[in-house]
Amino acid sequence: MTHDLIVVGGGPGGYVAAIRARQLGLKTALVEREQLGGICLNWGCIPTKALLRTAEINHLLHHLEAHGFSAEAVRFDLAKIVARSRAVAKKLSAGVKFLMKKHAVEVVDGQARLAGPGRVVVERGGQGVAELAAPHVILATGARPRALPGLEPDGERVWTYKEAMVPERLPGALLVVGGGAIGVEFASFYRDMGSEVILVEALERILPAEDEEISALAHKSFAKRGIRIHTGATVQSLQRAGEGLTAVIDLGGGSLSPVTVERVILAVGITGNVEDLGLETTRARVEKGHLVVDQWLATDEPGLYAIGDVVGPPWLAHKASHEGVICVEHLAGVADVQPLDVHDIPACTYCRPQIASIGLTEAAARAAGRNIRVGRFPYQANGKAIAMAEPEGLVKTIFDADSGELLGAHLIGTEATELIGGFAIAKTLETTAAELMRTVFPHPTLSEMLGEATLAAWDRALNI
Ligand SMILES: Cc1cc2nc3c(=O)[nH]c(=O)nc-3n(C[C@H](O)[C@H](O)[C@H](O)COP(=O)(O)OP(=O)(O)OC[C@H]3O[C@@H](n4cnc5c(N)ncnc54)[C@H](O)[C@@H]3O)c2cc1C
Repeated sequence: MTHDLIVVGGGPGGYVAAIRARQLGLKTALVEREQLGGICLNWGCIPTKALLRTAEINHLLHHLEAHGFSAEAVRFDLAKIVARSRAVAKKLSAGVKFLMKKHAVEVVDGQARLAGPGRVVVERGGQGVAELAAPHVILATGARPRALPGLEPDGERVWTYKEAMVPERLPGALLVVGGGAIGVEFASFYRDMGSEVILVEALERILPAEDEEISALAHKSFAKRGIRIHTGATVQSLQRAGEGLTAVIDLGGGSLSPVTVERVILAVGITGNVEDLGLETTRARVEKGHLVVDQWLATDEPGLYAIGDVVGPPWLAHKASHEGVICVEHLAGVADVQPLDVHDIPACTYCRPQIASIGLTEAAARAAGRNIRVGRFPYQANGKAIAMAEPEGLVKTIFDADSGELLGAHLIGTEATELIGGFAIAKTLETTAAELMRTVFPHPTLSEMLGEATLAAWDRALNI
């Protein structure tokens, strides 16, 4: 054996697993074929958040009158905006390289493939560069965009998230296909930067994983911003037309609507990177494009584990990292390791207004037969939100009516993605409504809404 553990893939799942393994004294190798940090740091979470921050600033610069400013002829340089986003990604990827060195993780640059139990061969440019062996192998190979027949990305006019992140110029009109978190973030970014945006979602509502009330509020807010949204709709065909594209949108019920746009962004989900991994030499199973694992992230092949996007939803960086830690601690025999509870994983969408949630939606709680109490507290009743000139939004809580257990929390509004952390702690600690009601939140802060939305569930909110 050359190592105690081999990790394939250096995204937030793989690199965090490798660090935890080193902390536990395991001799660890990490194989990465592209850039350390994976999709998250290089082409996902981080560069999009840099762009969305820019979009937020652009929005503010055009709404300065609320704060007593006036500014004319505010301009931006798209090349500089993209360059900043890329620089942020590069800095963080370099940060992972530093962390690997600091923790003495042996990084192998190349494409890894399983070659029998505990054996991994690494190639670069078609040449073998390493043969590794370990009793434990973790696959953290991530995922890639899913394509729809007839809607294949061409890298030029039909974009995936990668091209959408590095535009050379701002499209005048843009069609975003897919109303999940990624589609909505790009719709929000491009609209704030000045593009005409059409958003098409096949399901009945945008952000379908979110609480219905929150996705309805998001829909209303985006529509007010001029984003044209079609739900229950699909793109029937896409054809090049002059410099742009003509898309025929099937609005349902036989109604077809042609639109001409300059660019299309496809955001219709992702599929796991399970190919060319040598899985045929193992007993590991793949279902619906993802590796099947148990609660300890073990595949059906002894000693072979998988974490992060390659094992399926929710496709989130923090889920990948936590799975990495749990997997390594369990295989290393650490006592008291807990499996990850999907209801304790927060999900955030960094559009404007921001959306964040954790746990059961109201509909899911009712469908599960829970006797629930629902609390709602609007941003417009919060002093800090008004002082910030950000009164749009809602904090919604779902509690078990009998035990007071926090079952879910759903937010839309400024800094919702920061606020959800409070509910994440509360949920993980199995905090009850009574304990949340006793919690002293500082005034004036947006966080006061966490307390108020809890009180509201028992008709005791103080400021509405
Ligand atoms: C546009 C966009 C925005 C996003 N925003 C957010 C967000 O705000 N918050 C959030 O939580 N999540 C977000 N995500 C999702 C997040 O990026 C993923 O959930 C996360 O990156 C998954 O981590 P991972 O380690 O499983 O895989 P990845 O980050 O995909 O890393 C996998 C790595 O494995 C490498 N690899 C694959 N196969 C091999 C092989 N055979 N040999 C060697 N190396 C290999 C790849 O090169 C890659 O670096 C976003 C995604 C996108 C696309």
